[in-house]
Amino acid sequence: MTDKPARIKIAIQKSGRLTEQSLDLLQRCGLKYSRGPDQLIAYGENMPVDVLLVRDDDIPGLVRDDVCDLGIAGMNIVEERRLHFLEQDPVEPFRIVRTLDYGHCRLAFAYPDGSAVASVADLRNRRIATSYPSIVRDYLKRHDIPATVVEFSGAVEIAPSLGRADAICDLVSTGATLAANKLREGETILESRAVILQTPVAVPPEKIEWINRLLQRVEGVMQVRESKYIMMHAPKSALAKIAALLPGTEAPTVLPLDGLDDRVAVHVVCRENVFWETLESLKSIGATSVLVVPVEKMLA
Ligand code: ATP
Ligand code: ZN
Repeated sequence: MTDKPARIKIAIQKSGRLTEQSLDLLQRCGLKYSRGPDQLIAYGENMPVDVLLVRDDDIPGLVRDDVCDLGIAGMNIVEERRLHFLEQDPVEPFRIVRTLDYGHCRLAFAYPDGSAVASVADLRNRRIATSYPSIVRDYLKRHDIPATVVEFSGAVEIAPSLGRADAICDLVSTGATLAANKLREGETILESRAVILQTPVAVPPEKIEWINRLLQRVEGVMQVRESKYIMMHAPKSALAKIAALLPGTEAPTVLPLDGLDDRVAVHVVCRENVFWETLESLKSIGATSVLVVPVEKMLA
C-alpha cells in the first residue's frame, strides 16, 4: 500500500455543447491540466484528477462500468442510458450526485403543422421518431398510450416530411429548428441540465478524499455564481427586515459604527442574485452606503 492518492478519472464531452462549460467548471475547482497528444485525456497537473474527453453518449456507460469515477453529461442522455441499462439489469447503473447550472434544454414532442396529430392524446397507434427511444417508450407506457417508436440517431426533425413518422420527440432549446421544419412544439417530457454522475461502486479509500474535495469545490463554484456579499449601514432596529429582504442569508455580521449608537454596519452573504428592487427596499428601511460585491470563492 502507498499513501499516494489514486488518480480520479472524470469523463466529459469531447467536443460539443457541454465541453466549454464542463472544462470551465473543472478549472474553477482549481484543476490545471495538460492535454495529451491524442487529446483524449487531459492530465491534472496539480490534483490527482484526469479528464477523459469522449462522446457524451459514452459517458453514462463509462461511469457505470467504473472506468471513470465521475462523469458530466446532459440529463437527457443520462436518463436514456439509465432506462436502457435497467432493461438489462435492474440495478441502478450510477448515482446522480449534482445537477449543474448549464446545458438547459427540454425533450419535447413536436407535431407537423396542420396535422391531425396535435397532442399526446392523438399519438395512439401512431409512429414517433426520436433519438431517445427508452425515454419515449417509458413515457408512453406510463401514460398507457400504444404507439410505435421509430429510432433515429440524428436529424429526427425531418422524419415526418420523409413520411417515416407522425410526430417526433426531440431536444429543444429555442424552437428555431422545429419552426424551420414546419413542426410545432408540444408537451415536454423531460427538462434537462448537465449533471454529475458517480459510479455505483463504493469509493475506494485512496480516492475518497479527492472525490469529496472535488464535489465540495463544485458545490462552492455553484454557490458563488449566484452569491453576493452585501455591505451597508443601517438602523439597528431594521436588522430583522434586512434579513427578510435578502433570502438565503446566513446570520449577518453586525459591526458598531464609531460615534453612532443607533446605526450599525451590516455585512451579509446573500445566496441569490440581488436586484435593484431589493436595494431600493433596503434604502426605504433606512439602509445607506449599500455595496454589492461578487464572491470569488466559497467553502461552506
Ligand atoms: P457528441 O458528439 O458528444 O455525441 P452531440 O451532438 O450528441 O455530441 P451536443 O449537440 O453537443 O451533443 O449536445 C450535448 C448536450 O447538450 C445535449 O445532450 C443536451 O444535454 C445539451 N443541450 C443543450 N441545449 C441543446 C440543444 N439546443 N440541442 C441539443 N442539445 C442541447
Ligand atoms: Zn451525443
